[in-house]
Amino acid sequence: MVDADRTFVIVGGGLAGAKAAETLRSEGFNGRVILIGDEREHPYERPPLSKGFLAGKEERDSVFVHEPAWYAQNDIELHLGQIVTTIDRGAKTVRLGDGTVIQYDRLLLATGAEPRRLDIPGTDLAGVHHLRRLAHSERLKHVLKALGRDNGHLVISGAGWIGLEVAAAARGYGAEVTVVEPEATPLHNVIGPELGQLFADLHAEHGVRFHFGVRLTEIVGQDGMVLAARTDDGEEHPAHDVLAAIGAAPRTSLAENAGLAMADRAHGGGIAVDASLRTSDPDIFAAGDVAAVHHPLLGTRLRVEHWANALNGGPAAARAKLDQDVSYDRVPYFFSDQYDLGLEYSGWAPPGSYDQVVIRGDTGKREFIAFWLKERRVLAGMNVNVWDVTEPIQALIRGGAQVDTEALADPAVALGSLAP
Ligand SMILES: Cc1cc2nc3c(=O)[nH]c(=O)nc-3n(C[C@H](O)[C@H](O)[C@H](O)COP(=O)(O)OP(=O)(O)OC[C@H]3O[C@@H](n4cnc5c(N)ncnc54)[C@H](O)[C@@H]3O)c2cc1C
Repeated sequence: MVDADRTFVIVGGGLAGAKAAETLRSEGFNGRVILIGDEREHPYERPPLSKGFLAGKEERDSVFVHEPAWYAQNDIELHLGQIVTTIDRGAKTVRLGDGTVIQYDRLLLATGAEPRRLDIPGTDLAGVHHLRRLAHSERLKHVLKALGRDNGHLVISGAGWIGLEVAAAARGYGAEVTVVEPEATPLHNVIGPELGQLFADLHAEHGVRFHFGVRLTEIVGQDGMVLAARTDDGEEHPAHDVLAAIGAAPRTSLAENAGLAMADRAHGGGIAVDASLRTSDPDIFAAGDVAAVHHPLLGTRLRVEHWANALNGGPAAARAKLDQDVSYDRVPYFFSDQYDLGLEYSGWAPPGSYDQVVIRGDTGKREFIAFWLKERRVLAGMNVNVWDVTEPIQALIRGGAQVDTEALADPAVALGSLAP
């Protein structure tokens, strides 16, 4: 039975918010749990929106975190389609868009991120898309089907994970696809230049055209419809639709307006939290894409925009809300699927942070593990079409010891034997 004496409010009905609500109940919290989300959908997972669901291989129902009935069964009070506009930290209340005021004892901000917008002429045309929400993915799926049917052209701005996954889905429908990317290789900011070409080759084999080292400068239209996309090298690319896949920005305005401490924008921004996911206000926590955690293992402040971080961070924040000891030190992890290539990446090794890349396996066959190292210490590992190795890869990262790089590159040497 719910004890109305204590009220824990969660703002943000995504994976982190829903998992936090689940954990509060599984940890025995019997006060009120109120989950507020500005989307009308029940909380859902976003990875299928650029993969299986977009490609027409996964059903709509499969994306939801819980069955709709689960919320009432667990006494989670849901406010869907409601935005939280302000937090009054003195009164310990949140105000919704319709004026409702809700009191909290403890608050979790799991407000996620939103797609960055192109700041060029033509972005108001009907065929310019972003991809964050289920409704975006549903609309894009119709667009890709129509482009495939009519030999239409999709121009994607950005060769990051979402841009590449949508390129793969679009080719699956038979659409013509052009990807425009300012860096020299795809995924540059995550995996660096050494392995980017492998992804460029993979997509080129499937008929994707790339233009590296250029930016979109204008989307040309007529009668409100997209006709072409121009790049800063003076070229014009045929386009019927354009996807802006240029990253996401944390949704921090609510926290900023409430005066909570923020992380440095130059390092990804987000709500600054300590290792227990607590903000600068002891009764307010943050988790998921919006939280910039002081990471105990990596020794730096890090905002991780990945599924596993929402899956694990929401529950960790819920436990911290319950005054349990929490030190959120999970190794960052994500996955991607493109055509018949599946991968998992553990760790954190942006360009500039590593001095060596070691390959174990066969990049030609696209079956290998890549390791990023600094002074022979493993910072990150990516397994491509090789499975069940996340644990030993993460053990190497956690261990932080210097490794024998020849043994690391040798598939005959068990990975587990290399960790300290
Ligand atoms: C298309 C796509 C594909 C992805 N694929 C992968 C993948 O393959 N692998 C991987 O690891 N990660 C992937 N990700 C990233 C992953 O989905 C995110 O890291 C995860 O969704 C973050 O969860 P979250 O709960 O923190 O935020 P979100 O999922 O963004 O949820 C936050 C929710 O809060 C709501 N909200 C915000 N502000 C307010 C407010 N003031 N009031 C009320 N509600 C509010 C938002 O509308 C949203 O519904 C993908 C993301 C996208 C968009």
